Amino acid sequence: MARVFSGIQPSGELHIGNYLGAVRRWVELQRQHECFFCIVDYHAVTQDYDVGLLASRTLDMATSLLAAGIDPDRAVLFVQSHVPEHTELAWLFTTVTPVGELERMTQFKEKAQRQESVLAGLMNYPVLQAADVLLYKADTVPVGEDQVQHIELTREIARKWNARYGEGFFPEPQALVSDAKRIMGLDGQAKMSKSIGNTIGILEEPETIWQRLRPAMTDPARVTRNDPGTPEICNIYHLHRHFSPPATIEDVAHKCRTAGWGCLDCKRVLADNIARVFEPIRQRAAELKAHPERVRDILAAGAERARVVAQDTMRLVRERMGLFGARERARP
Ligand code: SF4
Repeated sequence: MARVFSGIQPSGELHIGNYLGAVRRWVELQRQHECFFCIVDYHAVTQDYDVGLLASRTLDMATSLLAAGIDPDRAVLFVQSHVPEHTELAWLFTTVTPVGELERMTQFKEKAQRQESVLAGLMNYPVLQAADVLLYKADTVPVGEDQVQHIELTREIARKWNARYGEGFFPEPQALVSDAKRIMGLDGQAKMSKSIGNTIGILEEPETIWQRLRPAMTDPARVTRNDPGTPEICNIYHLHRHFSPPATIEDVAHKCRTAGWGCLDCKRVLADNIARVFEPIRQRAAELKAHPERVRDILAAGAERARVVAQDTMRLVRERMGLFGARERARP
């Protein structure tokens, strides 16, 4: 049985992009593997964020994950800052991580361009990510393509630490890259992301889903209803492939190519299918929202289970790194 670790930002309720790209797969993985799923609030604070909303967005994310099928009897679901060993290990890993490696990370370069003064937390983000994974000695990390470089760095950090402090201590985890291609946002321009505002939330009401889909970008060649289109270049068609039955997907492609219907007709069918797929999740979320204490209890129990593993790893890490009192601290 593999040990799986994966993290998600506390960005509030799940949207279609992170559901299809990550969480749907988590729900499958938890059936076969030992899974640790973490809401990474320490990562969230490396960029501008709303202090007043962070806690509620963390709770909303947990509610969404549980409603989407994360089962606390199978997987360990917890909040990163509730297990302080994450940051302790990250600090120790900074001592074996070359700055040059961090500076060449694509995500760092992109995000640093947007910061007037680049903060150390942003640069060290992948070190904390390495600590997240290795704290649990996870061997499998489901990620999107944009995170593969960070997993390679995690492997390198594990190698460097092992070479200095104990061969074979940390495994070199493998990235399990999502087979769902990047889910594009409703603007058809960028990856679906809350910060861009081009998402559909999985808990949104059917009418809201429709209102969000109506103005979404389609094939620009379809200027009028009589202009034929090319479904393969239209994001709405790609969403149909995730939410509509096979016969409907075929019908969508045919009617698009032959101008057999308008884009609004096409979006209407998609809106109905998205609403139908998420109906059970919406219902479960409504029950959890009525009892937020249940979600808090699940997160507290998850953190407790995570801490057992994390503390065990850190006890051995401190010992191997020769920290004063490490052996004495370890005694019961
Ligand atoms: S008919 Fe559908 S698939 Fe074709 S361009 Fe319009 S929205 Fe896209």
